[in-house]
Amino acid sequence: TPEGATVVDQKPIDFTKLNINRLPTVMIIGRPNVGKSALFNRLIRRREALVYNTPDDHVTRDIREGLAKLGDLRFKVLDSAGLETEATSGSILNRTASMTANVLARTQFAIFLIDVRTGLHPLDQEVGRWLRKHAPGINPIVAMNKSESLHNDINSFAEAATEVLKLGFGEPIAISAETGLGMTTLYESLRPLLESYMNKVLDGNSSQDENFNQNCDSCEVDEESKVPLQLAIVGRPNVGKSTLLNALLQEDRVLVGPEAGLTRDSVRAQFQYQGRTVYLVDTAGWLQRGDRQKGPASLSIMQSRKNLMRAHVVALVLDAEEVAKAWRSLTHAEVVIARQAVEEGRGLVVIVNKMDLLKGKRNSTLYKKIMEAVPQEIQMVIPQITGIPVVFISAIDGKGRGAVMSQVIDMYKKWCLRLSTARLNRWLRKVTSRHSWKDQGAQTKIKYFTQVKARPPTFVAFLSGNTKLSDTYVRFLTKSLKEDFDMGGIPIRIMQRSVP
Ligand code: GDP
Ligand code: GDP
Repeated sequence: TPEGATVVDQKPIDFTKLNINRLPTVMIIGRPNVGKSALFNRLIRRREALVYNTPDDHVTRDIREGLAKLGDLRFKVLDSAGLETEATSGSILNRTASMTANVLARTQFAIFLIDVRTGLHPLDQEVGRWLRKHAPGINPIVAMNKSESLHNDINSFAEAATEVLKLGFGEPIAISAETGLGMTTLYESLRPLLESYMNKVLDGNSSQDENFNQNCDSCEVDEESKVPLQLAIVGRPNVGKSTLLNALLQEDRVLVGPEAGLTRDSVRAQFQYQGRTVYLVDTAGWLQRGDRQKGPASLSIMQSRKNLMRAHVVALVLDAEEVAKAWRSLTHAEVVIARQAVEEGRGLVVIVNKMDLLKGKRNSTLYKKIMEAVPQEIQMVIPQITGIPVVFISAIDGKGRGAVMSQVIDMYKKWCLRLSTARLNRWLRKVTSRHSWKDQGAQTKIKYFTQVKARPPTFVAFLSGNTKLSDTYVRFLTKSLKEDFDMGGIPIRIMQRSVP
């Protein structure tokens, strides 16, 4: 398929094959009680929702996000209950202005719900004005919800619909979030909008979005730009995770609320760093108080492995003062987490926080001990990877952001690296001829060397017959790869396959 050509015709899009992160976002708006949550739940069915909390003085209102499936359409859907206007739910909007801006900035479409039984309500007008003011680019699909209650009474619907035209957002459609009535109409309204959006997004890019890993032996894809970075911040209580989180998010606070039925551990937030979107996989409760005593058997650690899978880069936060006091830099629980991150193929960045507490001791042995001991100890507990980055910060003064993010992004870039087969085999010939003495005959054993996948980089050595490379030789190849392609500090995998 020709790439980079100007697309005149809309290509049909198979939404089911697209990466979730690239899907457009549709926000459900409307005054309270029109059925926003009901529609949200219908669209996401039983899939999990992510929750962005907007903490207010007394109330906590949530913005939920989920993956919507409507026929073969896939999109991200936001339930905006947490964004209700001042008029509709009492001065929430003002206090969460940055959150509102954040949500609107990444929303492309909206479904504006009206309760067909009440018809046009003054608060609907309020919501309309709010949308015009904050997101003038969004022309919502207006949907008259609870339409099943009219029992096909066309006249009542027409009456309500005529009123609703006053909003100036076009003709409404009839739906029922509760019974599913009108979902086909909603599909038909959304499909052309979402399709044209995806055509723009994919224009110039490879549209074979998902399974690009296969059959891609001569191209070096910029995989990094395909999926936004997912970052997890982990560590024991009180090491300063929330403080760091706030520094990263800057003005947007994200807290975890005890909303029933929602998985605490999947709560995410999003921020921009140097033009790049970063998702925070929040990790509240990963390491419980008392882990220092209890060891790795606690439930929180068991759960953490599952959570690590969601992240691309894991930032393990340590407390400098604790480190200074202790005999070892890392507690047992921290060692377990660090090892798990690496075993799961995640990029690990270690952050030593609260360095300000050792300020007066800059020249002291304590200070030096920390600067040297932490990297050394990490090397000791994770011997298979050299050069895991360690960052020393004080999250409390908000200054750690740049230091942390530059390491995190560097790590992510390496993690996403893809090398062409041609380049790898040129490299292999050089390496094996230089060092074939390390494994008798390795040079002839390896027929072919290729990267089958990035994120993390995974390679396959195709070997002749039933031969196998020695562990030493695999370690040597790994080390050479890392040195020659600047992949230090990341987990790299080399698999072996035989070719007849
Ligand atoms: P929200 O405040 O906009 O999120 O509204 P909810 O989703 O909480 O719904 C408010 C009320 O309307 C609830 O009692 C729902 O059961 C009801 N409701 C939602 N959708 C429908 C519908 O399609 N038909 C009827 N009859 N009731 C609905
Ligand atoms: P969490 O439990 O890991 O989320 O830790 P918090 O972010 O709640 O921080 C725990 C305590 O450490 C709070 O009292 C913070 O003010 C304090 N703290 C966090 N970062 C720093 C720092 O860089 N320096 C100092 N001195 N204190 C910090």
